[in-house]
Amino acid sequence: MNQRSEYLSYGQQWIDEEDIEAVVKILRSPFITQGPKVMKFEEKVANYVGARYAVAFSSGTAALHGACFAAGIKQGDEVITTPMTFVATSNVVLYCGGKPVFADIDPKTYNIDPIQIEKNITEQTKAIIAVDYTGQPAEMDAISALAKKKNLIVIEDGAHSLGATYKGRKVGTLADMTMFSFHPVKPITTGEGGVIVTDDRDYYHKLKIFRTHGTSPATDQAPWYYEMHELGYNYRMTDLSAALGYSQLDKLDQFISRRTELANLYNDLLANFSNIKLPNQNHNANSGWHLYVIQWKGELFTRREVFDKLRAANIGVHVHYIPAYWHPYYQKLGYKKGLCPVAEELYESIITLPLFPQMSDFDLFDVVKVLKEICG
Ligand SMILES: *Cc1c(COP(=O)(O)O)cnc(C)c1O
Repeated sequence: MNQRSEYLSYGQQWIDEEDIEAVVKILRSPFITQGPKVMKFEEKVANYVGARYAVAFSSGTAALHGACFAAGIKQGDEVITTPMTFVATSNVVLYCGGKPVFADIDPKTYNIDPIQIEKNITEQTKAIIAVDYTGQPAEMDAISALAKKKNLIVIEDGAHSLGATYKGRKVGTLADMTMFSFHPVKPITTGEGGVIVTDDRDYYHKLKIFRTHGTSPATDQAPWYYEMHELGYNYRMTDLSAALGYSQLDKLDQFISRRTELANLYNDLLANFSNIKLPNQNHNANSGWHLYVIQWKGELFTRREVFDKLRAANIGVHVHYIPAYWHPYYQKLGYKKGLCPVAEELYESIITLPLFPQMSDFDLFDVVKVLKEICG
Protein backbone atom coordinates (compact mmCIF):
# COMPACT_ATOMS: atom_id res chain seq x y z
CA MET A 1 0.00 0.00 0.00
CA ASN A 2 1.01 3.59 -0.67
CA GLN A 3 2.77 5.20 2.27
CA ARG A 4 3.46 8.88 2.74
CA SER A 5 7.01 9.69 3.77
CA GLU A 6 5.77 12.39 6.11
CA TYR A 7 3.09 11.95 8.77
CA LEU A 8 -0.07 13.89 7.91
CA SER A 9 -1.72 15.10 11.09
CA TYR A 10 -5.54 15.37 11.34
CA GLY A 11 -5.23 19.01 12.28
CA GLN A 12 -2.58 21.58 13.13
CA GLN A 13 -1.97 25.29 13.57
CA TRP A 14 -0.69 27.65 10.89
CA ILE A 15 1.69 30.21 12.36
CA ASP A 16 3.48 32.68 10.08
CA GLU A 17 6.24 35.28 10.57
CA GLU A 18 3.67 37.99 11.32
CA ASP A 19 2.29 35.94 14.20
CA ILE A 20 5.80 35.34 15.54
CA GLU A 21 6.70 39.03 15.38
CA ALA A 22 3.49 39.92 17.23
CA VAL A 23 4.44 37.60 20.11
CA VAL A 24 8.07 38.74 20.20
CA LYS A 25 6.89 42.35 20.47
CA ILE A 26 5.05 41.43 23.68
CA LEU A 27 8.16 39.70 25.07
CA ARG A 28 9.95 43.07 24.80
CA SER A 29 7.05 44.97 26.45
CA PRO A 30 6.35 45.54 30.16
CA PHE A 31 3.26 43.25 30.21
CA ILE A 32 3.61 39.56 29.51
CA THR A 33 0.75 38.22 31.65
CA GLN A 34 -2.80 39.62 31.35
CA GLY A 35 -2.36 43.18 30.15
CA PRO A 36 -3.54 45.57 27.43
CA LYS A 37 -3.21 43.01 24.61
CA VAL A 38 -5.78 40.71 26.23
CA MET A 39 -8.29 43.59 26.23
CA LYS A 40 -7.54 44.36 22.59
CA PHE A 41 -7.93 40.72 21.64
CA GLU A 42 -11.25 40.49 23.50
CA GLU A 43 -12.52 43.58 21.70
CA LYS A 44 -11.45 42.13 18.35
CA VAL A 45 -13.15 38.78 18.98
CA ALA A 46 -16.36 40.48 20.15
CA ASN A 47 -16.36 42.69 17.04
CA TYR A 48 -15.66 39.76 14.76
CA VAL A 49 -18.64 37.73 15.92
CA GLY A 50 -20.88 40.72 16.64
CA ALA A 51 -21.23 40.24 20.39
CA ARG A 52 -21.14 43.00 23.01
CA TYR A 53 -18.60 41.43 25.38
CA ALA A 54 -15.75 38.94 25.28
CA VAL A 55 -13.80 37.57 28.25
CA ALA A 56 -10.58 35.68 27.49
CA PHE A 57 -9.48 32.67 29.54
CA SER A 58 -6.42 30.45 29.85
CA SER A 59 -8.22 27.67 27.95
CA GLY A 60 -11.53 26.85 26.35
CA THR A 61 -12.26 24.55 29.26
CA ALA A 62 -11.63 27.35 31.78
CA ALA A 63 -13.92 29.60 29.71
CA LEU A 64 -16.68 26.99 29.71
CA HIS A 65 -16.24 26.57 33.47
CA GLY A 66 -16.66 30.34 33.75
CA ALA A 67 -19.87 30.19 31.71
CA CYS A 68 -21.30 27.53 34.04
CA PHE A 69 -20.36 29.67 37.02
CA ALA A 70 -21.96 32.78 35.47
CA ALA A 71 -25.06 30.71 34.69
CA GLY A 72 -25.22 29.88 38.40
CA ILE A 73 -24.87 26.12 38.00
CA LYS A 74 -24.58 24.49 41.41
CA GLN A 75 -25.31 21.32 43.35
CA GLY A 76 -28.68 19.89 42.36
CA ASP A 77 -28.84 21.60 38.95
CA GLU A 78 -29.04 19.61 35.75
CA VAL A 79 -27.43 20.72 32.49
CA ILE A 80 -28.42 19.01 29.25
CA THR A 81 -25.65 18.39 26.74
CA THR A 82 -24.50 16.08 23.97
CA PRO A 83 -22.36 12.96 24.44
CA MET A 84 -20.70 13.52 21.03
CA THR A 85 -18.09 15.96 22.33
CA PHE A 86 -14.78 16.32 24.09
CA VAL A 87 -15.17 15.50 27.80
CA ALA A 88 -14.50 19.12 28.81
CA THR A 89 -18.07 20.05 27.82
CA SER A 90 -19.67 17.94 30.53
CA ASN A 91 -16.74 18.07 32.97
CA VAL A 92 -17.34 21.79 33.60
CA VAL A 93 -20.84 20.98 34.85
CA LEU A 94 -19.29 18.56 37.35
CA TYR A 95 -16.75 21.25 38.40
CA CYS A 96 -19.74 23.35 39.54
CA GLY A 97 -21.40 20.47 41.38
CA GLY A 98 -24.11 20.12 38.73
CA LYS A 99 -25.27 17.02 36.91
CA PRO A 100 -24.67 16.59 33.18
CA VAL A 101 -27.68 15.02 31.45
CA PHE A 102 -26.89 13.56 28.04
CA ALA A 103 -29.43 13.99 25.25
CA ASP A 104 -29.00 12.01 22.05
CA ILE A 105 -27.95 13.45 18.71
CA ASP A 106 -29.62 13.91 15.33
CA PRO A 107 -28.34 11.06 13.10
CA LYS A 108 -28.01 13.45 10.16
CA THR A 109 -26.11 16.41 11.62
CA TYR A 110 -24.54 14.56 14.61
CA ASN A 111 -25.52 17.59 16.71
CA ILE A 112 -27.74 17.46 19.79
CA ASP A 113 -31.38 16.80 18.86
CA PRO A 114 -33.78 19.46 20.23
CA ILE A 115 -36.50 16.81 20.61
CA GLN A 116 -34.19 14.76 22.83
CA ILE A 117 -33.35 17.89 24.84
CA GLU A 118 -37.04 18.48 25.52
CA LYS A 119 -37.52 14.88 26.64
CA ASN A 120 -34.78 15.31 29.25
CA ILE A 121 -35.99 18.57 30.81
CA THR A 122 -36.95 18.26 34.49
CA GLU A 123 -37.66 20.66 37.38
CA GLN A 124 -33.89 20.66 38.03
CA THR A 125 -32.81 21.62 34.52
CA LYS A 126 -31.06 24.96 34.52
CA ALA A 127 -29.11 25.15 31.26
CA ILE A 128 -28.32 23.56 27.92
CA ILE A 129 -24.80 23.28 26.51
CA ALA A 130 -25.03 22.76 22.75
CA VAL A 131 -21.88 21.81 20.83
CA ASP A 132 -21.25 22.78 17.21
CA TYR A 133 -19.78 19.40 16.35
CA THR A 134 -17.13 19.55 13.58
CA GLY A 135 -17.87 23.28 13.15
CA GLN A 136 -21.46 22.88 12.00
CA PRO A 137 -23.76 25.00 14.19
CA ALA A 138 -26.30 23.13 16.32
CA GLU A 139 -30.03 23.81 15.72
CA MET A 140 -29.82 27.01 17.72
CA ASP A 141 -33.26 28.42 16.81
CA ALA A 142 -35.08 25.34 18.06
CA ILE A 143 -32.83 25.18 21.13
CA SER A 144 -33.34 28.87 21.95
CA ALA A 145 -37.11 28.59 21.53
CA LEU A 146 -37.18 25.61 23.87
CA ALA A 147 -34.95 27.41 26.39
CA LYS A 148 -37.18 30.47 26.33
CA LYS A 149 -40.28 28.36 26.94
CA LYS A 150 -38.66 26.52 29.84
CA ASN A 151 -36.62 29.42 31.21
CA LEU A 152 -33.22 27.81 30.65
CA ILE A 153 -29.84 29.36 29.92
CA VAL A 154 -28.20 28.40 26.62
CA ILE A 155 -24.43 27.99 26.47
CA GLU A 156 -22.91 27.16 23.09
CA ASP A 157 -19.65 25.21 22.97
CA GLY A 158 -18.25 26.73 19.80
CA ALA A 159 -14.78 25.22 20.22
CA HIS A 160 -15.08 24.04 16.60
CA SER A 161 -17.12 26.86 15.10
CA LEU A 162 -15.46 30.28 15.36
CA GLY A 163 -16.36 31.97 12.05
CA ALA A 164 -19.21 29.60 11.20
CA THR A 165 -22.66 31.02 10.43
CA TYR A 166 -26.22 29.87 11.09
CA LYS A 167 -29.06 31.39 9.06
CA GLY A 168 -26.74 34.25 8.14
CA ARG A 169 -25.77 34.96 11.75
CA LYS A 170 -22.29 34.33 13.17
CA VAL A 171 -21.82 31.79 15.94
CA GLY A 172 -21.34 33.93 19.04
CA THR A 173 -24.68 35.69 18.67
CA LEU A 174 -26.92 32.63 18.93
CA ALA A 175 -26.74 31.71 22.64
CA ASP A 176 -26.63 33.47 26.02
CA MET A 177 -22.92 32.68 26.20
CA THR A 178 -20.66 31.13 23.57
CA MET A 179 -17.25 29.56 24.13
CA PHE A 180 -14.44 29.47 21.56
CA SER A 181 -11.24 27.49 22.08
CA PHE A 182 -7.82 28.54 20.79
CA HIS A 183 -6.08 25.19 21.18
CA PRO A 184 -3.67 24.63 18.23
CA VAL A 185 -6.02 22.36 16.27
CA LYS A 186 -8.96 24.79 16.58
CA PRO A 187 -9.92 27.49 14.00
CA ILE A 188 -7.28 29.93 15.32
CA THR A 189 -4.76 29.45 18.12
CA THR A 190 -3.24 31.24 21.10
CA GLY A 191 -1.33 28.13 22.25
CA GLU A 192 -3.76 27.39 25.05
CA GLY A 193 -6.68 29.78 25.37
CA GLY A 194 -10.39 30.34 25.17
CA VAL A 195 -13.05 33.02 25.35
CA ILE A 196 -16.69 33.55 26.25
CA VAL A 197 -18.70 36.03 24.21
CA THR A 198 -22.03 37.37 25.47
CA ASP A 199 -24.38 40.33 25.17
CA ASP A 200 -25.27 40.18 28.86
CA ARG A 201 -23.61 42.66 31.22
CA ASP A 202 -24.24 40.59 34.32
CA TYR A 203 -22.62 37.46 32.83
CA TYR A 204 -19.74 39.63 31.64
CA HIS A 205 -18.98 40.87 35.16
CA LYS A 206 -19.27 37.39 36.66
CA LEU A 207 -16.90 35.96 34.05
CA LYS A 208 -14.29 38.63 34.75
CA ILE A 209 -14.40 38.06 38.49
CA PHE A 210 -14.31 34.28 38.09
CA ARG A 211 -11.11 34.24 36.04
CA THR A 212 -9.18 36.17 38.66
CA HIS A 213 -9.78 34.41 41.99
CA GLY A 214 -13.27 35.85 42.47
CA THR A 215 -11.78 39.21 43.38
CA SER A 216 -12.78 42.69 42.29
CA PRO A 217 -11.53 46.17 43.26
CA ALA A 218 -13.80 48.00 45.72
CA THR A 219 -13.76 51.46 44.16
CA ASP A 220 -14.86 53.42 47.24
CA GLN A 221 -11.98 52.05 49.33
CA ALA A 222 -8.24 52.59 49.67
CA PRO A 223 -6.17 52.14 46.48
CA TRP A 224 -4.73 48.76 47.55
CA TYR A 225 -8.12 47.36 48.43
CA TYR A 226 -9.85 44.51 46.67
CA GLU A 227 -12.46 42.07 47.86
CA MET A 228 -13.10 38.43 47.20
CA HIS A 229 -16.80 37.61 47.07
CA GLU A 230 -16.76 34.42 45.04
CA LEU A 231 -14.48 31.41 44.87
CA GLY A 232 -12.73 32.03 41.57
CA TYR A 233 -9.60 30.72 39.88
CA ASN A 234 -6.51 31.97 38.11
CA TYR A 235 -7.86 31.43 34.61
CA ARG A 236 -6.25 34.46 32.96
CA MET A 237 -4.91 34.55 29.42
CA THR A 238 -1.44 36.04 28.92
CA ASP A 239 -0.61 38.97 26.63
CA LEU A 240 1.73 36.58 24.79
CA SER A 241 -1.24 34.39 23.88
CA ALA A 242 -3.50 37.35 23.15
CA ALA A 243 -0.94 38.81 20.72
CA LEU A 244 -0.85 35.51 18.84
CA GLY A 245 -4.65 35.33 18.77
CA TYR A 246 -4.95 38.96 17.68
CA SER A 247 -2.68 38.28 14.72
CA GLN A 248 -4.32 34.92 13.93
CA LEU A 249 -7.82 36.39 13.84
CA ASP A 250 -6.87 38.39 10.73
CA LYS A 251 -6.42 35.06 8.92
CA LEU A 252 -9.51 33.26 10.18
CA ASP A 253 -11.66 33.92 7.12
CA GLN A 254 -8.89 32.66 4.82
CA PHE A 255 -8.44 29.62 7.04
CA ILE A 256 -12.14 28.82 6.82
CA SER A 257 -12.34 29.26 3.06
CA ARG A 258 -9.39 26.92 2.64
CA ARG A 259 -11.00 24.40 5.00
CA THR A 260 -14.22 24.67 2.99
CA GLU A 261 -12.32 24.18 -0.26
CA LEU A 262 -10.66 21.03 1.09
CA ALA A 263 -13.96 19.69 2.45
CA ASN A 264 -15.57 20.20 -0.96
CA LEU A 265 -12.65 18.41 -2.59
CA TYR A 266 -13.11 15.44 -0.23
CA ASN A 267 -16.85 15.51 -0.99
CA ASP A 268 -16.19 15.38 -4.73
CA LEU A 269 -13.47 12.74 -4.68
CA LEU A 270 -15.22 10.44 -2.19
CA ALA A 271 -18.70 10.85 -3.65
CA ASN A 272 -18.67 7.46 -5.39
CA PHE A 273 -17.19 5.45 -2.53
CA SER A 274 -20.13 3.26 -1.57
CA ASN A 275 -18.46 2.23 1.70
CA ILE A 276 -18.14 5.79 2.92
CA LYS A 277 -20.88 8.08 4.20
CA LEU A 278 -19.92 11.73 3.78
CA PRO A 279 -20.64 14.43 6.36
CA ASN A 280 -23.96 16.20 6.00
CA GLN A 281 -23.92 19.94 5.44
CA ASN A 282 -26.94 21.87 6.71
CA HIS A 283 -28.26 24.15 3.98
CA ASN A 284 -29.10 26.86 6.53
CA ALA A 285 -25.54 27.05 7.88
CA ASN A 286 -21.92 27.46 6.86
CA SER A 287 -19.72 25.10 8.81
CA GLY A 288 -16.30 26.15 10.07
CA TRP A 289 -15.14 22.69 8.90
CA HIS A 290 -13.04 22.06 11.98
CA LEU A 291 -13.25 18.31 11.34
CA TYR A 292 -14.05 16.18 8.31
CA VAL A 293 -15.77 13.08 9.70
CA ILE A 294 -16.74 10.13 7.53
CA GLN A 295 -18.67 7.01 8.48
CA TRP A 296 -17.22 3.68 7.40
CA LYS A 297 -20.04 1.49 6.10
CA GLY A 298 -17.95 -1.28 4.49
CA GLU A 299 -18.44 -4.97 5.21
CA LEU A 300 -15.02 -6.23 4.12
CA PHE A 301 -13.10 -4.32 6.79
CA THR A 302 -14.06 -3.01 10.20
CA ARG A 303 -13.69 0.64 11.12
CA ARG A 304 -10.70 -0.33 13.23
CA GLU A 305 -9.02 -2.05 10.27
CA VAL A 306 -9.57 0.96 8.01
CA PHE A 307 -8.23 3.25 10.74
CA ASP A 308 -5.12 1.08 11.18
CA LYS A 309 -4.49 0.93 7.41
CA LEU A 310 -4.66 4.72 7.16
CA ARG A 311 -2.32 5.14 10.13
CA ALA A 312 0.07 2.58 8.62
CA ALA A 313 0.14 4.75 5.48
CA ASN A 314 1.18 7.72 7.67
CA ILE A 315 -2.26 9.35 7.49
CA GLY A 316 -3.05 10.80 10.90
CA VAL A 317 -6.69 9.86 11.16
CA HIS A 318 -8.52 10.15 14.47
CA VAL A 319 -11.91 9.43 16.06
CA HIS A 320 -14.01 12.27 17.52
CA TYR A 321 -15.43 11.36 19.99
CA ILE A 322 -15.85 8.48 22.42
CA PRO A 323 -19.32 9.21 23.89
CA ALA A 324 -18.54 11.31 26.97
CA TYR A 325 -20.35 9.07 29.45
CA TRP A 326 -18.50 5.95 28.24
CA HIS A 327 -15.38 7.18 30.03
CA PRO A 328 -14.66 5.23 33.23
CA TYR A 329 -15.11 8.35 35.38
CA TYR A 330 -18.67 8.79 34.11
CA GLN A 331 -19.36 5.07 34.37
CA LYS A 332 -18.34 5.26 38.03
CA LEU A 333 -20.80 8.12 38.48
CA GLY A 334 -23.52 5.73 37.31
CA TYR A 335 -24.07 6.66 33.66
CA LYS A 336 -25.04 3.55 31.71
CA LYS A 337 -24.03 2.56 28.21
CA GLY A 338 -27.06 2.59 25.93
CA LEU A 339 -28.17 6.02 27.16
CA CYS A 340 -27.85 7.69 23.74
CA PRO A 341 -28.08 4.92 21.12
CA VAL A 342 -27.73 7.20 18.07
CA ALA A 343 -24.47 8.69 19.35
CA GLU A 344 -23.16 5.28 20.37
CA GLU A 345 -23.90 3.80 16.95
CA LEU A 346 -22.29 6.75 15.22
CA TYR A 347 -19.18 6.38 17.35
CA GLU A 348 -18.66 2.84 16.07
CA SER A 349 -18.35 3.97 12.44
CA ILE A 350 -16.65 7.37 12.40
CA ILE A 351 -13.17 8.34 11.25
CA THR A 352 -11.82 11.89 11.20
CA LEU A 353 -9.77 12.55 8.04
CA PRO A 354 -6.98 15.16 8.00
CA LEU A 355 -8.20 18.71 7.41
CA PHE A 356 -6.37 21.93 8.22
CA PRO A 357 -5.77 25.14 6.26
CA GLN A 358 -2.10 24.55 5.43
CA MET A 359 -2.81 21.10 4.02
CA SER A 360 -2.16 20.89 0.26
CA ASP A 361 -4.39 19.33 -2.38
CA PHE A 362 -1.65 16.70 -2.77
CA ASP A 363 -1.92 15.80 0.93
CA LEU A 364 -5.63 15.29 0.39
CA PHE A 365 -5.01 13.18 -2.74
CA ASP A 366 -2.78 10.93 -0.59
CA VAL A 367 -5.67 10.32 1.80
CA VAL A 368 -8.08 9.57 -1.04
CA LYS A 369 -5.53 7.27 -2.70
CA VAL A 370 -5.22 5.11 0.41
CA LEU A 371 -8.99 5.00 0.87
CA LYS A 372 -9.31 3.94 -2.76
CA GLU A 373 -6.85 1.08 -2.20
CA ILE A 374 -8.77 -0.03 0.88
CA CYS A 375 -12.10 0.09 -0.94
CA GLY A 376 -10.61 -1.76 -3.92
C1 LIG B 1 -11.18 21.67 22.40
C2 LIG B 1 -12.54 21.54 22.96
C3 LIG B 1 -12.86 21.98 24.25
C4 LIG B 1 -11.84 22.45 25.24
O1 LIG B 1 -11.08 23.51 24.80
P1 LIG B 1 -9.57 23.68 25.38
O2 LIG B 1 -9.18 25.02 24.85
O3 LIG B 1 -8.75 22.57 24.84
O4 LIG B 1 -9.66 23.67 26.86
C5 LIG B 1 -14.20 21.90 24.65
N1 LIG B 1 -15.14 21.42 23.84
C6 LIG B 1 -14.86 20.97 22.60
C7 LIG B 1 -15.97 20.45 21.75
C8 LIG B 1 -13.55 20.99 22.13
O5 LIG B 1 -13.26 20.51 20.91
